[in-house]
Amino acid sequence: MIDEYVPLSRFTTLGTGGPARWFASPENLNQLGDALAWAAERGASVSVVGLGSNLLVADEGVDGLVLKLSGELAAAEADGDRVVAGGGAPLAVCLHRARAASLGGLEFACAIPGTVGGSVKMNAGAYGGEIAGVLERALVVSASAAEWRTPAELGLEYRRSALDEDEVVARAELRLAQRPTDEIKAIVSEMQAQRKAAQPTNKRTFGSVFKNPEHELTAGRMLEACGLRGHQIGGAQISPRHANFIENAGGARSAHAVALMSEARRRALEEFGVMLEHEVQLLGGLVLPAA
Ligand SMILES: Cc1cc2nc3c(=O)[nH]c(=O)nc-3n(C[C@H](O)[C@H](O)[C@H](O)COP(=O)(O)OP(=O)(O)OC[C@H]3O[C@@H](n4cnc5c(N)ncnc54)[C@H](O)[C@@H]3O)c2cc1C
Repeated sequence: MIDEYVPLSRFTTLGTGGPARWFASPENLNQLGDALAWAAERGASVSVVGLGSNLLVADEGVDGLVLKLSGELAAAEADGDRVVAGGGAPLAVCLHRARAASLGGLEFACAIPGTVGGSVKMNAGAYGGEIAGVLERALVVSASAAEWRTPAELGLEYRRSALDEDEVVARAELRLAQRPTDEIKAIVSEMQAQRKAAQPTNKRTFGSVFKNPEHELTAGRMLEACGLRGHQIGGAQISPRHANFIENAGGARSAHAVALMSEARRRALEEFGVMLEHEVQLLGGLVLPAA
């Protein structure tokens, strides 16, 4: 079923973004195929939202079809030494399934609040692990094709893939290894404690704003050195805790976050000669003005 004018702010962790002109939640591959064919017939653009944890959606919304995978496309189960998941399955569910089956290797994902599909698209990673390291293959579906791709075929690099915006990761198979459940629990607790000590965990954010540049300073340290911690525009604020995060300080709009990002890029260029590249994905025609 295709709905109209569905507010996307409820699907982004920052809590901003206008409506999707059309919106569908396919539950299986047939429904996904139907939705993609429907969009192709109308010449409508297609984009996917996962858990919206790395997403900034235009306040004006998205003039196309937005998909959110559900049902069996958002479920996960252990199968031998693999976790087999729908693209819409939260990583937290995959980790839970893995732990219950004494499968290790996915612990790094404990602090990444996204789906399998979003994490393949972003090659999400933390604590030295990344999706490329555990992904065996992913089923990529578009209006014209459905094919299984390996990490190399997906072009997974640091926080990027070669996936086009209208290509949907519908399923993925993660290859893990036997590990005692207690060991998995201990690793996860340690990683979560580290995360809590360093980042804003009780605020609405979209994770890292910028990728770390090839520089001795991380993006966060660089923006901190520019004096940007706590800097606020409208309802969006550079986290007083970690300068590579933007928080919704109340009443934020995506335009406020974009203005902060532009200011941060301008300052980093001015003070360090570095043009920061944004990690957060922009939807609905949002662009960052030149620094
Ligand atoms: C508090 C916090 C901490 C975070 N920590 C980390 C971290 O440590 N490491 C890290 O890498 N990231 C981190 N992130 C960012 C984010 O969680 C990851 O990038 C995650 O992989 C995004 O998944 P998602 O499902 O939320 O995708 P979304 O944010 O919904 O979308 C991101 C991109 O993926 C695309 N996409 C989503 N689903 C699919 C699909 N099924 N098929 C094709 N494309 C799809 C979207 O169109 C968009 O381009 C953090 C975010 C937050 C809020």
